[in-house]
Order: sequence, then C-alpha cells, then structure tokens
Amino acid sequence: EAEQLDPEHPFFAYQTPVVRKHSGKIDPESIEEYIAVGGYESLYKVVHDMTPADVVKEVSDSGLRGRGGGGYPTGLKWATVAKMPAGQKYIICNGDEGDPGAFMDRSVLESDPHLVLEGMAIAGYAVGADHGYVYVRAEYPLAISRLQKAIKQAKKYGLMGSQIFDSPFDFKVDIRIGAGAFVCGEETALIQSIEGARGNPVPRPPYPAQSGLYDCPTLINNVESFANIAHIIKQGAEWYASIGTENSKGTKIFALTGNIRNNGLIEVPMGITLRTIVEEMGGGVPDGEVKAVQTGGPSGGCIPKDLLDTPVDYDSLKAVGSMMGSGGMVVMDQNTSMVEIAHFYMEFCREETCGKCVPCRTGTVQLYDLLTKILKGQATEADLEQLKQLSYMVQETSLCGLGMTAPNPVLSTLRYFPEEYTSLLVQPAYLNGHAAEAKPV
Ligand code: SF4
Repeated sequence: EAEQLDPEHPFFAYQTPVVRKHSGKIDPESIEEYIAVGGYESLYKVVHDMTPADVVKEVSDSGLRGRGGGGYPTGLKWATVAKMPAGQKYIICNGDEGDPGAFMDRSVLESDPHLVLEGMAIAGYAVGADHGYVYVRAEYPLAISRLQKAIKQAKKYGLMGSQIFDSPFDFKVDIRIGAGAFVCGEETALIQSIEGARGNPVPRPPYPAQSGLYDCPTLINNVESFANIAHIIKQGAEWYASIGTENSKGTKIFALTGNIRNNGLIEVPMGITLRTIVEEMGGGVPDGEVKAVQTGGPSGGCIPKDLLDTPVDYDSLKAVGSMMGSGGMVVMDQNTSMVEIAHFYMEFCREETCGKCVPCRTGTVQLYDLLTKILKGQATEADLEQLKQLSYMVQETSLCGLGMTAPNPVLSTLRYFPEEYTSLLVQPAYLNGHAAEAKPV
C-alpha cells in the first residue's frame, strides 16, 4: 500500500489529473473549500467577460468530445442548442452510469460535485438555458446526498438561482433519480424517464438538441464532460487541446479492473497506450500474462494482447473493434474464457434490453441462447454461423445504441479468439475424435 501512495509510482506518475485535480484533496461537502481552489471563477468569468458565443467557441476549440462514450464533439452539440430560437431550453447532466465495473461518474459526483454544477451552469449560459437536471442512478446515494448539499450551498452563496454574480443570468438545477435501468443512459430514454414516462428510447431525429425535454431544445452531456468545462474556461482551449492526440483531446478517466495488480480510477492523457496502462500503471497481471483488455463495457470489445500498443483514443479503439465507452477497462489473464466473457456481457444486455424493438428484444435472447449452447459443447458450425449473422443483424437494425452495440463483445472475441469458439463445437461423429487433425487449414 505504501508503494502505491508514492507519487513516483507508475500508477500515479502517468496520470494527468484535470477532472480529478481536487478529488480527495478538498472536502466535497464544503463549498468554501471548492471556492478556495478557484471554484466558480470560471462561471464568474463567463457571465462577466464572455458572450455565450465566446463560451461555445472556447469549448469547440478545446476539442472536448463526449465522455459518455459516443465521442460526439461537445462544442458542436452546444452550438446546435445555442442556435435554436430563444425560449425554454434545458441542460441535462447524464449520471446514469450503468456499465458493469465502471464508477468514474460516481467518483466525480461524490468527490467534487460543485465542479459538475459549475460546468452545467456555464453550459446554461452558453446555450441560453436557465434550468438543469442531474440524472443520477439510485444506486449512488452518497453522490445524490452530496449533490443535494452542493445545490443548497450554491443557492445560499448566490451561485445558483436568479441574477448569478449580479448578472442577468438565472440558472437552477434539480436532481432526478434513475431506477437502475441501463437503457436510461441513452439520451432519449433518459428524457422520457425525467418526464415521468417509461425509459424507452425514441427514434432520432429530432435530436434532443433540437427537441428534447418537454419538446424543448436540450443539451445533454455526461458527468465527466461537464466536469471538464470549468477547467477549459479557466486555462483556455489551447491548453486543453495541448493534451491528447489530434482527434481526441484532453484526458479520460478509466476504472481499471480485472486481473491486474494495481486497480482503481486513473485519469490519463488521451493517446497513452493500453500497454502503458496495463503493464506499467497496472503493474501487469498477478499470475501469468495479459490475454485481452475489454474497453467500453457491454458496448465495447476485447482487445488482444498483440494489440496492447494501441493508443487509447476514440479512433484507434474503434479501429481495433472496440470503443472508448464511458471508461470501463477490464484486464483478463490467460485463464479467462473469451466465450464466457461474451456470454456474460450478452446476459447483461438480454436483461437490460427495454424490449421496444424486435432485433434487440429477441436478438439478445437468441444470441445469449446460442452462446450458452456453445459453452455447453452442444453447438455446431451452423450455430456459430448463426451467431455471426445474428450479431450483424442486431447491430444494423436495432433502434438505439444498446442494441446496436450489444453484439460487439461477441464479434470482437470471434475476431480475435475464433479457436475458443471452434474448440467448443460438437465434432462430427465420422471424425472419431480426430477433429484437430481433420480441421481444414
Ligand atoms: Fe430498446 Fe434495445 Fe430497441 Fe434500444 S435497441 S430501443 S434497448 S429494444
């Protein structure tokens, strides 16, 4: 433990704390401590020294992309909402973090809630919204209570409510608590949920930026995205854009877990390689060697050890069949069955499908059943082919991101570990136990 607290230890030395700069250092229940480290200075700066268009430009120039996983340019989203005719607009902070093993947003909300509120208020000023909602899952009671306290304190200090910093800008924030449905992390389902309806996704367009909450233009960003904003305003777009790669700027928080010596939350610059994270920061696998790394949770893919030099950025992870996702990073060792991993994630999606559209509702069940059959050693080549074709079909025809990405763990493990599937298939009787020799080359 002593070794891990050493700032020179690779686990800490490779980190670039931006969002987590004050996490663990200030009391999250004290607005005075947040203000003492420069909190709410950025909000003051925007309402007094910048026009809304200046703020949108600064966010666009920073190159920040959505940290919820999609990677959509944040500035572009802000510009779309800002351009909508003046009238009622909303800000929504998506804190419905549902990936198994991921707790980045929870940590930010628990350790620095004012940072998120400040980011939301700056967004409100930039796009012309006076009302925001934080949507947090009910499984995060500490995050909820700290947010409640933070909102109360900000109101008391005049940092939320009417005429903030004696300017004409008004902004208030309410909390909405989610009931634990993974699909409510999808923007349109989340909006339905806030409106009191069942959290089902709806087809886009129109996009929430055009017509979202109560049919009003709505800006939705996730917790980590909003937590970057005050830093970008304070230190400038140029500073932010100097961190990371050409198309993926800034830092990303990951929940490093699985078969790894050092686990926990890490905030790293975009572009760092998986190898640096796993072998140096994580200290490698305790017994044996790395077999694969899963990024993106149930929506992502397994990246094999041969590709550990892949840079961690939106485009590179996509190129190897995975995705950035919201920040789950699971390391697997040589004893891990990749078919079981695909089965685990498919079970998750089968449980979490909202059931609105057929490909996802029935496809995830059928994919799960096929994977079960393979694991039981009862599947044939035809089943394997069906697994592939069904995965493509679900990917291409589902209504929302949950269904579109549900087959990714199957397809990535099929791509990189095909022998793990074929070795489990029923061998034709005529081979008489000599399957290995008889397999086509
Ligand atoms: Fe619901 Fe799945 Fe269709 Fe999304 S893809 S709307 S989760 S059934």
